[in-house]
This record gives sequence, structure tokens and C-alpha cells, in this order.
Amino acid sequence: MRSGLSLINCVVLVRSVTIRGMTNRERQRRWRIKHKDRLKLESQQRRALRRVKTSANTKVATALRKGELVRPDVCEKCAGSGDIDAHHPDYSKPLEVEWLCRKCHYQQHRGPFEMAAKKRYRGEEHKSSKLKEHQAREALILISAGKMTKRAIARRFGVHESTIRLLELGITWKHLHTRSC
Ligand SMILES: [Zn+2]
Ligand SMILES: [Zn+2]
Repeated sequence: MRSGLSLINCVVLVRSVTIRGMTNRERQRRWRIKHKDRLKLESQQRRALRRVKTSANTKVATALRKGELVRPDVCEKCAGSGDIDAHHPDYSKPLEVEWLCRKCHYQQHRGPFEMAAKKRYRGEEHKSSKLKEHQAREALILISAGKMTKRAIARRFGVHESTIRLLELGITWKHLHTRSC
């Protein structure tokens, strides 16, 4: 303890240093401990909901197999065709379903407790993208030519080798793979 600081000052100082010096992982750990009752309840609710959902979906599948339910060719809402899903407005009534196309079904589930619509980013729109699109294309050409090692290609674009490997596997820049290039 430095002279001139009272004990209370010292405690405050040490405390603020530890809090500021905490890693994210430590901060998350503390948050989880503080909110453990809430987290436990939420996870129980999620599990219960999953059980109810699974059971309702199983009942629909069985009814379809037995011919008790018939999947229509068009969406009840927009009359569109394509993949038609059985949607449960109420899971406690497993056989009362609405037949919806993927788009309408997705919209039905955009409530506050369901997954919000996520914008899908591709390629360099992605926040963590290491390569520009023209570089990714060039790298793919170099990979398929097979004359350079992945390490050399990575060095050429100033990225890590794993970036090139992910590109090659189509995990990143998937849309470049689907076209011929
Ligand atoms: Zn529809
Ligand atoms: Zn649904």
C-alpha cells in the first residue's frame, strides 16, 4: 500500500484494477454466477419447449404416414408452392397445423422468442473477411492450378494459411464455389 492512501482507497483501487483487468471470459463467468437462477430457469423452459415441439412434430409425421393428415401442395397463406411445412400455432394441439411455405413459416416464427431474421453476409461483406472478392477468386484459381502450396498462397495475400484452407473447403466464400471459377 502506498503511503498517503487510506485502506479504503486502496481497496477501491485494487477492485477497480481487477475489474478493468478482467478478461472477457472471467466477466462472462461472473455474469453467469450472478444470474444462475435465471439461466437455470430459462434452460428448463427451453428444454420443456423442445420436448413439446418434438412430440408435436412426431405426431404430425405419424399422422402423415397413416394418411390422417395430408400435406397440401400449396401454402395456406399465400398459395405459393415449394416445400410446405406443418406449423403449430399451438403445440398443445399437435394435429391442428397450418400448412405454410418456408417463407410464410419463417415469418410466423419471427416473434420475440424465436430467432430474429438474420441478414446473411457473404464474402467480403462479412465483418471478419480477410480477403477481398477478387483476391478470393484469384486464390481459388491458384489452389486449383495446384502449383503453389497453401502457405505460399496465404503469404501472397497476407493472410493465415487457415484462411486459404477455409476458402478451399468452401466454408468461406461459398458462393464463389458454386459458380465456375
Ligand atoms: Zn406462403
Ligand atoms: Zn412453425
